[in-house]
Amino acid sequence: MEQVLFRHNRPGRCITFDEYRDEGGFEALKKALTGMSPAEVQQTVIDSGLRGRGGAGFPTGKKWSFVPRDLPGRFLICNCDEMEPGTYKDRLLLEANPYSLVEGMILTAYSLGVNHAFVFIRRGYEQGADNVRRAIGEVTAAGLLGENICGSGFSLKLEVHQSAGRYICGEETALMNALEGKRANPRAKPPFPAIKGLWGRPTVVNNVETLANIPYIIAHGPDWFKGLAKIPEAAGMKLFCVSGHVKDPACLELPLGTTLGEIIDSHCGGMRDGSSFKACLPGGASTPFLTPDHWNLPLDFDSVARAGSRLGTGGIVVFDQSTCMVAATLNLVRFYARESCGWCTPCREGLPYVVHLLETIESGNGSEEHIEILTEHLKYLNYAFCPLAPGAMGPVEGLLRHFEEEVREHIIKKRCPIQQHRPGGVYGN
Ligand code: NAD
Repeated sequence: MEQVLFRHNRPGRCITFDEYRDEGGFEALKKALTGMSPAEVQQTVIDSGLRGRGGAGFPTGKKWSFVPRDLPGRFLICNCDEMEPGTYKDRLLLEANPYSLVEGMILTAYSLGVNHAFVFIRRGYEQGADNVRRAIGEVTAAGLLGENICGSGFSLKLEVHQSAGRYICGEETALMNALEGKRANPRAKPPFPAIKGLWGRPTVVNNVETLANIPYIIAHGPDWFKGLAKIPEAAGMKLFCVSGHVKDPACLELPLGTTLGEIIDSHCGGMRDGSSFKACLPGGASTPFLTPDHWNLPLDFDSVARAGSRLGTGGIVVFDQSTCMVAATLNLVRFYARESCGWCTPCREGLPYVVHLLETIESGNGSEEHIEILTEHLKYLNYAFCPLAPGAMGPVEGLLRHFEEEVREHIIKKRCPIQQHRPGGVYGN
């Protein structure tokens, strides 16, 4: 199968600058900076149908088009504050090959007329951060970054910033506050960063996987990129990180539109011995569960949305029949409650209350009223200031939609109906 972002990968080590260049690296950069206008680069990305790979799936070229070109002092930020549970694709990308990201950022900055860009990297991604710093030095020494790149008159300064290590730092406006040296609280949107972002200037924030795709789109064209997907409504490949109760958990580069069943059976060796598929999170911990009914669902942004969930980051966490879905949901909401920045009341007060409700039900002390209050909180937490709390309620939404009977069984039997069959662990591991 054709690989795009993983095509340069070497077993157990990062590719070198020379290897990347010898395999066609930086050809797209030279092609664009010597023969394409910034507007042509943007139009190529719009035509490719590329959608943001950080989780929201917003059309990348459209986001770029919002940036006012008449205001000076624009910025580009690569968001590599990858902290969504079940998601580890950006880490693997940077550990294997930082050059596609660096090349993609130069192309994006050229298209946007940005002269100063940042890679915002999660604390703990030390290898990735070292690789990007080294790549920036090598690419600069080769005359492909810095002043007057390829004689085009275009210059770019690219810097690495390591996050202090909180989940909220990955929210794009909190990230910008962190970069400015302030407490990482989210800002109100609108205005969107494309209009008023870092230090009040127009700023584009794109994910690592999104930016790393840009050189290949410029090199091979929008039709090639569209044709990579399995279904005509989608475009490109996607990195899926599969974890949980499958035989061979892995991060796989597959065409968008590959079905859930195909990913588990053909690419992850199927379910573990003695396991049957009960549910999965399709795109990180903030997405509602999918169930066996979705086995043949193509995984792309629109199909998963139509099924009532979100493709999110493509971090697929698989649960088998030994999992108590109340306990699994509780585990996820605990994470979000702990990571709440405390800025707004619905999130600060609401998430610990949802944890309390789930703990009460899981321990066999719940009542019908608890289900009603949980259901009401799906609505209340949408009033939170940023997407953290609504995202945290994604698994709760899935729990109530697909596993309400299992929730009710806890109440009727006054104990967890699943946990008693398992000798260890509340979370079915
Ligand atoms: P969003 O839909 O609000 O915005 C997506 C992007 O489009 C943003 O960059 C936003 O600025 C831009 N945008 C949207 N409408 C715009 C407009 N009218 N004008 C200009 N720009 C516009 O989503 P979000 O809050 O940025 O991200 C939420 C997603 O993040 C969730 O879906 C979740 O899956 C994902 N997430 C990922 C991680 C991770 O580790 N990768 C962690 C947490 C959450």
